[in-house]
Amino acid sequence: MTAWKLALAGCEVLLIEAKTFPRSKPCAGWITCAAMQAMAFDATTYPHLLVPITRVAIGLHDGLHVTHWPNPVSYGILRRELDDFLLQRARAAGAEIWLGRRVDRVELGQDDALVVVGATQVRGKWVVGAGGASCPVARAVGGKSFWQHRTMVASQTSETPIGIRQLENSGLGTGLPVLFPEPEADGYAWYFTKGDHLNIGVGALGGGPAIPMRRQRFLERLQRAGTLDPSWKLAPFIGHSYALWRGLRQPLAGRNHLLVGDAAGLARDFSGEGIGPAVRSGSLAANFILSQPSGDSEANDHTRQLARLQGHGLITKMGGILEKLPQSFRRTLVESLCRSPWLRRRWVLEKAFLG
Ligand SMILES: Cc1cc2nc3c(=O)[nH]c(=O)nc-3n(C[C@H](O)[C@H](O)[C@H](O)COP(=O)(O)OP(=O)(O)OC[C@H]3O[C@@H](n4cnc5c(N)ncnc54)[C@H](O)[C@@H]3O)c2cc1C
Repeated sequence: MTAWKLALAGCEVLLIEAKTFPRSKPCAGWITCAAMQAMAFDATTYPHLLVPITRVAIGLHDGLHVTHWPNPVSYGILRRELDDFLLQRARAAGAEIWLGRRVDRVELGQDDALVVVGATQVRGKWVVGAGGASCPVARAVGGKSFWQHRTMVASQTSETPIGIRQLENSGLGTGLPVLFPEPEADGYAWYFTKGDHLNIGVGALGGGPAIPMRRQRFLERLQRAGTLDPSWKLAPFIGHSYALWRGLRQPLAGRNHLLVGDAAGLARDFSGEGIGPAVRSGSLAANFILSQPSGDSEANDHTRQLARLQGHGLITKMGGILEKLPQSFRRTLVESLCRSPWLRRRWVLEKAFLG
């Protein structure tokens, strides 16, 4: 988003990406309407798989609790396609793109930033850290301690082209994303079909059972329910962890650097939505650079604007409060919220997942 916007405005932009594209990325591939709007495309202009979501189920032990909406409230995408679409759009706007080139080191100087890629060194007035949870710009700012005092989510996910017919004949059919709160009420697992693809995963805060154990427990539950055919060959599960936004912990910009997306730890509490925050913060970074700030104090404006965008509302505060409650109480609370049609729609889905 940053590269696209800056290139459109006529800036000289270099985007350095470690992987070759299209690449897959551990993600459920759920985008909210607000995220889609921030990416400036819609169902008529996006050229890839875009599955409208008009109902969502929450799976509890007594069965599925389904909420419906008259119009799409979100969409399902494949990250391989979405990320490549955004990258190609930045290239078409004039950004230079290096793929398959890992940034080894970043040095933040007084007047510019130095980016080291193998034997190549690049200097720029600004470096935007958009390297996700292992971003080399965040590392240059604070080393490993950058991630201290953050609330981390650990996860594993698998995305497999199973085939439409097979998915339609399975217990849950297609087109109904299902969220299963973890028994410890510290995360959730999901079963999400997108076209002929099945995306299954689990994510949770640290401290409870390990993620491989949760994954196994979830797969057994789906198989017992007849939803997951044991003969389906699922793609390997890939692990990934990222930080949740629970308020501003440290500056997210300096004299010649800006952090965006997972590099800044912006994913939303409860839902884990990170695509919307990533693209909105990417746009904000471009606008900030285009405003031609000159010194340290102006750089704090990016931090302030980002903090305002992310908010300090009830949802941001509630994660920290809930986490401290005894597990049995937390579980009862989560189940009661999910069981009540009104609370499930307004609070669990529309506020925490779609807000
Ligand atoms: C299992 C899982 C499920 C999720 N599901 C959803 C969902 O359904 N909806 C949602 O909104 N969010 C979801 N998220 C969160 C979302 O995926 C992230 O918040 C989002 O991808 C952040 O985008 P980003 O651009 O900041 O980072 P990333 O998408 O991680 O992109 C960072 C890029 O930087 C590159 N990179 C890293 N290091 C270097 C380096 N040294 N040199 C060069 N390049 C480098 C990487 O290769 C990568 O392409 C999920 C996350 C996980 C782990």
